[in-house]
Amino acid sequence: MSEKRPVTMEKIVNLCKRRGFVFPTSDIYGGLSSTYDYGPLGTELKRNVKEAWWRYMVHERTDVIGLDSAILQHPKTWEASGHLKSFTDPMVDCKDCKHRFRADQIPDAAKCPDCGGPLTEARQFNMMLKTFLGPVEDSAAVTYLRPETAQGIFANFANLVDTQRVKLPFGVAQMGKSFRNEITPENFIFRTREFEQMEMEYFIKPDEAEEAKWFEYWVEHRMNWFLKFGAKRENFRLHQHPKEELSHYSRGTTDLQYRYPFGWGELEGVAKRGSYDLDQHANASGKDLTYFDEEAKARYRPWVIEPALGVDRAMLIFLLDAYDEDVVDNEERIVLRLDPRLAPIKAAVYPLLRKGGQPEKANEVRLDRTALSAPGRGRHPLRHHHRS
Ligand code: ATP
Repeated sequence: MSEKRPVTMEKIVNLCKRRGFVFPTSDIYGGLSSTYDYGPLGTELKRNVKEAWWRYMVHERTDVIGLDSAILQHPKTWEASGHLKSFTDPMVDCKDCKHRFRADQIPDAAKCPDCGGPLTEARQFNMMLKTFLGPVEDSAAVTYLRPETAQGIFANFANLVDTQRVKLPFGVAQMGKSFRNEITPENFIFRTREFEQMEMEYFIKPDEAEEAKWFEYWVEHRMNWFLKFGAKRENFRLHQHPKEELSHYSRGTTDLQYRYPFGWGELEGVAKRGSYDLDQHANASGKDLTYFDEEAKARYRPWVIEPALGVDRAMLIFLLDAYDEDVVDNEERIVLRLDPRLAPIKAAVYPLLRKGGQPEKANEVRLDRTALSAPGRGRHPLRHHHRS
């Protein structure tokens, strides 16, 4: 589809900076490559996006519970999960201009896309950010900042099953920061080294028919979430990963792709993780990570369907789809037609004059809690009530 959209990345980046949605990190020191800070409006929008996800994925359901695990996990986590060995991207360098690329993201793996010069052989580069715990920087103290939130869920599987009276199928959701030492972070908040994820591991019976059913369910459910909160259907498509593109843990992945101004790209991935993660952690820790199925009187490790989304990417697409330009009284203006549930500012109370007690009155109205309650449930904001 080539219908022209008014929005470009440049317009969004400028608007975000001008209005205080997103600022480049460490601006006063010249910035830190591809790292961003969220300003007052961006902070509110981000909170609302997360709230919308949590409400839809956890609170409005009876089969999903929440978790908030640590960014730092035992280093064995990443050995067992396969990230230490397989969470790599192929990296190439241009021998002439020295620019660096992800070999799978350039059209010709032998020629520099910037200057046409020759490229080095591809080397596998691990994307986890390494750090040291404690004051001694030796190999015993090495750990990693989590590259996905999911592993905290798998590592807590026994705790959750033992304490929560869960019955299959059930999900565990969590959101939080993840870190990846991306070779080429790019396109504003689309790909950064520090970002936030919203992930849910949905545990099911280990059965192919169940897996197919729930996979389809979650792909559709996730698509509906975006549409429910104002995203435009025509900017979405599904992309099924061919076998050779699958992550090390995946038995099948479908991406929800979005039509960004720079082209189609991943927005969210829905993956069939099978029992890969529980198997790996059970083997590495020696702990029992099975589930007892009362009906079948059998113990097994459940399979998993995982919808995984980046908060920052979600924010970006909601901004892109909300962006509009129009003319009012001969003046051009930019309008963000955000869903009211996501909008950083829902309503404003302004004094007509900056004197005569009007600012105080406006503030009183603003702070009147009855005026803030949900329509229907609250009292009329302008009627006076005595509060005891
Ligand atoms: P990509 O192919 O774009 O690198 P991925 O397939 O590695 O992404 P997943 O591991 O499936 O991504 O992560 C789940 C989600 O987390 C992605 O769909 C995306 O929304 C978000 N995400 C992943 N990496 C980044 C990043 N570097 N910056 C911002 N968001 C990210």
